[in-house]
Amino acid sequence: MSSWSSAQFSYHFHGLSAGFYQAVSPTSLDQPHWVHWNSELAQALSLPSDPETDLLTAFSGQSQPDVFRPIAMKYAGHQFGYYNPDLGDGRGLLLAEIHSKQGLRYDIHIKGAGLTPFSRQGDGRAVLRSSIREYLCSEALFHLGIPTTRALGLINSTTPVYREKTETGAICIRLAESHIRFGHFEHCFYTGQHEQLQELLDYTLLNHYPDCQNQEKPYVAMLEQVVIRTAQLFAKWNAFGFAHGVLNTDNMSILGQTFDFGPFGFLDNYNPSFICNHSDYQGRYSFANQPNIGLWNLTALAHALSPYIERADLDAALSLYEPELNQEFSRLMRQKTGLISHHENDSVLFGEMFSLLAKNKVDYTRFFRQLSMLDKQGIQPVIDLILDREAAQEWLDKYLQRLTLETESDEQRCQAMRRCNPKYILRNHLAQIAIDKAENGDYTEVERLFSLLQTPYDEQPELDHYANLPPSWAHELEISCSS
Ligand code: AMP
Ligand code: MG
Repeated sequence: MSSWSSAQFSYHFHGLSAGFYQAVSPTSLDQPHWVHWNSELAQALSLPSDPETDLLTAFSGQSQPDVFRPIAMKYAGHQFGYYNPDLGDGRGLLLAEIHSKQGLRYDIHIKGAGLTPFSRQGDGRAVLRSSIREYLCSEALFHLGIPTTRALGLINSTTPVYREKTETGAICIRLAESHIRFGHFEHCFYTGQHEQLQELLDYTLLNHYPDCQNQEKPYVAMLEQVVIRTAQLFAKWNAFGFAHGVLNTDNMSILGQTFDFGPFGFLDNYNPSFICNHSDYQGRYSFANQPNIGLWNLTALAHALSPYIERADLDAALSLYEPELNQEFSRLMRQKTGLISHHENDSVLFGEMFSLLAKNKVDYTRFFRQLSMLDKQGIQPVIDLILDREAAQEWLDKYLQRLTLETESDEQRCQAMRRCNPKYILRNHLAQIAIDKAENGDYTEVERLFSLLQTPYDEQPELDHYANLPPSWAHELEISCSS
């Protein structure tokens, strides 16, 4: 019996017309071996919870089971504001769709699978370093409750890959309910292929937004949903202190999920102008600018849909973005602070909080976690996080005063706050330690972080130090696009 025999596969995207993809076989990695296998997700897909050899050979391109029909998708997109028609899966392949026991259907995509017709000057490979980052972060976001692609497994090899130094080729097995990007629609539009544009709209509607089919204007209803989901996603990123780093339209999922992990970073200290991508010289994708970019990208998508949606409807759909973003962000900030009821001066209190955090470079995640511990530990540990103790005390006095207007007990409020203020996030330095070890053949730290980040809201006393402030060497860490 093969490892695939209990799983259910399908090939809906393969049914699109020829221009959407090319059939490409993966180029196998040398001496592939598992870095990690996501047993829980595998089980949900009726795959073995232990990674069998046939899984390794298949996902590393050494063998091709009948159930895989590898294709490279063609798309385009705006990169750093400029349209690039030449994009596509340059190193990733869509193998098939697999169905979960919960009734979800995921694309199985392998990233780092070798050259394709869309590789341009690239080598078709992904290095271990960036693959570990995507692997850990996508699962970490999922367990935080942020919409994202998933990761099923991670393979390393002895295949040399040349970046600033010689590294090894890796493959991250990525799952997503769809790999359709904004850039897919842009490709159809800018090449004047309006029939294909309609074909893709109909496909997306049927497969991913079926509820919109019965609306009076199905395409408009679908665009509205994309706008709303994207606004909610961007609000979540900013509420959790997550910066994506490369928000080009080819990295924007049509499902409003975090997609294509590159030089992302979680904020350590609160700094709105944080730029996690070392190559982003203008700060286009800085933390504070993310919400604007969400709308910019949606506008690029809307423009691509203009042959099928009237201008007034495009504008109306786009106008949903800002209110949705603000509403979701404010809902999340209220949850994080436990200020659930609405009162007159709340926005002033939030404003003062953000300015206190920024001025004092306070650790963003620890601040909210410590605020969730007021019932057990009081205010002193919160003050200890803030350099200007007087200003801290002043804000906390106002906060405590404001809390008296809430109806729940301290304990109830703090309990709820601990369920939305994570103790553990994938800080850059933690990922870096795991990477350094993995590059020396030791994957135990990947395993430890993977398991730690599955329950980011729980106290894990034996791993308490993973919630510590970053060490001083971490301030120098720079993450570039060369993945
Ligand atoms: P990314 O920066 O990963 O979103 O990729 C942007 C574009 O470059 C996509 O079309 C990728 O497929 C392509 N690309 C990135 N890295 C490589 C590589 N090593 N080899 C071939 N194509 C790549
Ligand atoms: Mg990309």
